[in-house]
Amino acid sequence: MLTLNIAEIKQGSSQTKRTVSPVDLDLKGFNYPIEVHMDINRVADNIYIRMNFKTRISAVCDRCLEDLLQPIDENVRIVCTRDTQLSADEDDVYFIKDKSDTVDLSLSLHQALVLGIPQKLLCRPDCRGLCPSCGTNLNVKKCHCKVKKTDPRWDVLKKLKENNNIN
Ligand SMILES: [Zn+2]
Ligand SMILES: [Zn+2]
Repeated sequence: MLTLNIAEIKQGSSQTKRTVSPVDLDLKGFNYPIEVHMDINRVADNIYIRMNFKTRISAVCDRCLEDLLQPIDENVRIVCTRDTQLSADEDDVYFIKDKSDTVDLSLSLHQALVLGIPQKLLCRPDCRGLCPSCGTNLNVKKCHCKVKKTDPRWDVLKKLKENNNIN
C-alpha cells in the first residue's frame, strides 16, 4: 500500500520518499522494491503531488530470450482534496473522506507501473535475436544457416506462375 497521512503534510512545498514492496500492491511480474518520490505542494486542504516511481522488472528479451532487467521510471500527478467541486484536468483526483486523514494512493502507483512496461522488451535496441533455423543466439556468434528471405511480392509472382501451369 502507498498511503499518505494528510495531517503530517505541512502547508507549502515539501518532499517525501518511500519504498514500496510490489508484494503489498499485488503487482504480478514485479519483484524489485519501488522507489517512490513525491513533490508535494499543499494549499489549504488541496494537496498537489508529483509522484515518481522507479523500479526494475526481470524479464526475457523478446528476440533472443536472454534474461534482462528493464528499468521502469514513471511520473504521475495527483491531487488530494476535501473539495468535491475540484476538478483537475490532467491529474488523478483523490477525495479525502470527512473524518479520515489518510489517502490510499496505491491505485495510481499500480496503474503507472502496469502501463510503464514497454510493449517490446529488448536486451538492447539492436538485439539480433535467434536464428530461426538453428536457434543460435546471433548476438553471441554467427551461424551458417542460409535463411531464406521471404518477400511477399515474390509469393504473388509464384502464385501467378502456378496458376498458369494449371491452365
Ligand atoms: Zn536480446
Ligand atoms: Zn542458424
